[in-house]
Amino acid sequence: MAFEGLADRLQSTMQKIRGKGKVTEADVKAMMREVRLALLYADVNLKVVKDFIKKVSERAVGQEVMRSLTPGQQVIKVVKEELTALMGGEQSKIAVSPKPPTVIMMVGLQGAGKTTTTGKLANHLRKKHNRNPLLVAADIYRPAAIKQLQTLGKQINMPVFTLGDKVNPVDIAKKAVEQARTDHHDYVLIDTAGRLHIDGELMDELKNIKDAVKPDEIFLVVDAMTGQDAVNVAKSFNEQLGITGVILTKLDGDTRGGAALSIRAVTEKPIKFVGLGEKLDQLEPFHPERMASRILG
Ligand code: GDP
Repeated sequence: MAFEGLADRLQSTMQKIRGKGKVTEADVKAMMREVRLALLYADVNLKVVKDFIKKVSERAVGQEVMRSLTPGQQVIKVVKEELTALMGGEQSKIAVSPKPPTVIMMVGLQGAGKTTTTGKLANHLRKKHNRNPLLVAADIYRPAAIKQLQTLGKQINMPVFTLGDKVNPVDIAKKAVEQARTDHHDYVLIDTAGRLHIDGELMDELKNIKDAVKPDEIFLVVDAMTGQDAVNVAKSFNEQLGITGVILTKLDGDTRGGAALSIRAVTEKPIKFVGLGEKLDQLEPFHPERMASRILG
């Protein structure tokens, strides 16, 4: 499970300071050294670590006194608040179009889990919010992609819009939105093509789809297991296409969690959901505060 190593290290660091009735600057410094190492070991981006340590140190040294907490507990509180802020602070909900349908473009590199996550998100919207999404197969290049989405659609008993693999993805997306309007779907989830690497052709196609359907959200699906690569992919997609949020997959795997802790800081775009397994119900909204609590114990 993600964050285990980080949680262990941070929790033992926090344990040392928790009971202290007096916290000196040297105590904070020593603790920050350990927090820094724990974060770097978890593969958190170097600049993100530096900024984080700076913020926590400033607040922890000159902090306000709260009668209910020991000085040690107050330092821990600061770490938790800053960790929560680092991951985005408040939970970020899906932006809903004032005029249905809400259009969501799903983008990402091949293998990140984009198609699976499209199915998971549709399932989530129906089960948790009683919505009626239309899934759209706009990846016409990967031979099995359309079939994969149709299979997912069957499993969750939801319609999948396809025009086969001979029609331009921009036209597929436009027609799908028209169809959704006619059939009173309140969400349209467009599964776009992925590639092994970011290339100009892929970005151009995604930009054209974006211009044609003006999505309310563009969710980048990234594999948390790929660590710093995930952060770089997010940075590139954000610069070239402009994403509105990130869905981190495979957080159930053996990831050190660095991507989850860096992506928000590097892209300034919120993590909206996390994938916690291959099954269709293993998608959860991302709560920065809960995640920080889990990490710090
Ligand atoms: P795409 O190429 O980005 O569309 O990727 P797929 O949706 O085909 O997913 C690639 C693989 O990742 C599949 O075997 C999925 O079952 C798996 N996968 C997707 N999300 C998760 C997740 O959150 N956890 C785990 N363990 N596997 C996932």
